[in-house]
Amino acid sequence: MKAEIIAAGTELITGQRIDTNSAWLASALAELGIACAYHTTIGDDMVEYVTALALASQRADLIVMTGGLGPTQDDITRDAIAAVAGRKLVLDEPSLVAICTLFASRRGTTTDPEKVVAELEKAFPDLVARNRIQATLPEGAEPLANRVGTAPGIWMGLGRATIACLPGVPSEMKIMYREQVVPRLSARGLAQQVTRIRKINMFGRGESEIEADALDLTARGRIPEVGITAHQATISFRVFSRGSTAEIADEIARPTVDTIYERFADLIIGEDEADLEEAVYDALSERSLTLACAESCTGGTIAHKITRVAGVSSVFLGGVVSYSNAAKQELLGVPEGLLAHFGAVSAEVAAAMAAGARLKFGAHVAVSTTGVAGPGGGTAEKPVGLVWLGLATPEGVKTKALRLGEEQPREIIQERAAKHALNWVRRWAKGYEK
Ligand code: ATP
Ligand code: MG
Repeated sequence: MKAEIIAAGTELITGQRIDTNSAWLASALAELGIACAYHTTIGDDMVEYVTALALASQRADLIVMTGGLGPTQDDITRDAIAAVAGRKLVLDEPSLVAICTLFASRRGTTTDPEKVVAELEKAFPDLVARNRIQATLPEGAEPLANRVGTAPGIWMGLGRATIACLPGVPSEMKIMYREQVVPRLSARGLAQQVTRIRKINMFGRGESEIEADALDLTARGRIPEVGITAHQATISFRVFSRGSTAEIADEIARPTVDTIYERFADLIIGEDEADLEEAVYDALSERSLTLACAESCTGGTIAHKITRVAGVSSVFLGGVVSYSNAAKQELLGVPEGLLAHFGAVSAEVAAAMAAGARLKFGAHVAVSTTGVAGPGGGTAEKPVGLVWLGLATPEGVKTKALRLGEEQPREIIQERAAKHALNWVRRWAKGYEK
């Protein structure tokens, strides 16, 4: 089984745009156990299309092509395939209806499939003429539905190969590949393997520290393979496993996943897209605890993050963005003397903010932030990136200082500080902090 990827577009061969589709498709095919033997890149020219397609149809079993499906002059994929296959181009009526329905619904008008083409044609004859071109396929081809764009893809036999033609726009291409191509490859027994990826997210230690404790797991050539990535201080392990079925692949991953959970227990905040806010919500709701926050330098980032979790109203009572000293005094009851003596960025004020928020909202736990987000305003004693956190709980009030780096941009400092604050709440609710 050999696959060939053809990327079409003059912008690709002239170096104006990097061909990211081929790389993405090659690794997506590899996940199915389909090896890619050739990558071909061609400009928008009929001779090159026909030459490349004729060659691929002789040397590959599967051709995946991207680009050139649109309605403009340089979109010649469908003509080239018809020429190589020796087939006529015929209008695919359901595809035309689908494209016209998309346009009509964008304009908020009729979506009756019986009428939509005729009605649109009256008002926009040029548009419908272009849609007709996009809905025209080589005879015998199967259209691949396009859920997000207009032109359908093409699926058909070509020489010894099966060809799938996908849009050039990367986001459209990926959706059509996943939704239309993968199921067809599986149904025809061409997909030989299933790849499963478990993504386990952690927070609270640096990537290199975590990696140092995981060298046995991340060793090259290990099965299952384990990768480590970082995004906004959230560190993730990705466990890749392959098998002839999903169950077998999961079974291969299981011992490694168990090891990760044992070894990094208190750092783990969730899997896949789950981040700190979900972990905080889970930890608090498990114990029926409520949360409030008092934010200065994070400007509402904590409240914003936590309120992205659906159902969080049962644990999150509210927050105060107390940016000025006056707001800290009036809304949270921070004593004027503390502000005057220690300054707004201090352990004492962080503690008073958290205690004040806990009291005002009647929450079990409240967290606060006050710091220097930069880029200006830093001093030797209180540099940019210094953030004090406060945590008020039934056991009392604690504070801790974060040093997030003088060189970091403002939004990174705000983002990191909010994440550390949420992580502190999570650790307390989980019983990791005394
Ligand atoms: P449309 O229906 O939008 O006309 P199409 O299938 O005809 O789509 P193209 O016109 O070739 O696709 O490309 C659409 C956009 O996608 C362009 O911005 C193009 O640069 C980009 N694109 C095309 N092929 C690739 C590729 N292989 N890698 C990355 N970007 C690509
Ligand atoms: Mg193009």
